[in-house]
Amino acid sequence: MMETRAGNNVAGFLFYAIHYLLNKYWLTFCRGLEKNCMSLSLYKKKRSFTKTPEPQGGKSSIKNQLVFVVQKHDATRLHYDFRLEMEGVLKSWAVPKGPSLNPEDKRLAMMVEDHPFDYRTFEGIIPEGNYGAGTVMVWDEGTYEPLEDASDNKKENEKKLLKQLHAGSLKFVMHGKKLKGEFALVKTHYQGAENSWLLIKHNDKYASEKDVTEKDKSVVTKRTLDQIEKKSDRIWKSNREEKSKVKSKNSEPGEEKSIKKSATKSVKKKSTLKKKAKTKQ
Ligand code: MN
Repeated sequence: MMETRAGNNVAGFLFYAIHYLLNKYWLTFCRGLEKNCMSLSLYKKKRSFTKTPEPQGGKSSIKNQLVFVVQKHDATRLHYDFRLEMEGVLKSWAVPKGPSLNPEDKRLAMMVEDHPFDYRTFEGIIPEGNYGAGTVMVWDEGTYEPLEDASDNKKENEKKLLKQLHAGSLKFVMHGKKLKGEFALVKTHYQGAENSWLLIKHNDKYASEKDVTEKDKSVVTKRTLDQIEKKSDRIWKSNREEKSKVKSKNSEPGEEKSIKKSATKSVKKKSTLKKKAKTKQ
């Protein structure tokens, strides 16, 4: 009699324990999944992955450090994409003039949709007709951490940075090949735009009046944009029949639209890209 009761108690306890754990972790899992999917939904909506070599997802394998990447992107107008890892994705800003090491410069940085983690290694050509068509170079990469109270714990650093992001004032230290030292990203309301921020170098030993964008080679492949454009191993072999359907993707508002057109350049660019599309497909 006693034994059965004890057995029942154990079974009951186990039942509730398993039920509790499943509930707890299943919910956490679902919330994480939802957050990630929500975060990248705009990114995915703007792109057709059968037509662009751009990555769709990815997860960080770097345990103790947050990473950043700055990509040089020769789209409708040349700009730099400044991306900081947070919440498993890359928080992204398009910087028309590119970063500066001069604390006097305040570089306009338009916040754009989150990009998947794997984007940090993307270098190649986004084919004509796709969103953000043009050549992409990994201009700089490295790790970063919050300026104040940085810890060895990635999650804790991320928490601090997310709080600053939501408050509209990020202060961090970069350990890149070109960008080093203290930087700030401060939300502004330039021309009434909700997504405009300023990228500013703090005055430290890495501050310099020298134009850092003169360093114009990929930190990964040492190639210039022209070299990537001429000989890219990342050109997507898209389907010709499907090409007409892609056109509308290009006209959606967002990253590329927020940067004003440079007419002469875009005309020249389009014609060369068209030629390339004809020969490569
Ligand atoms: Mn871009």
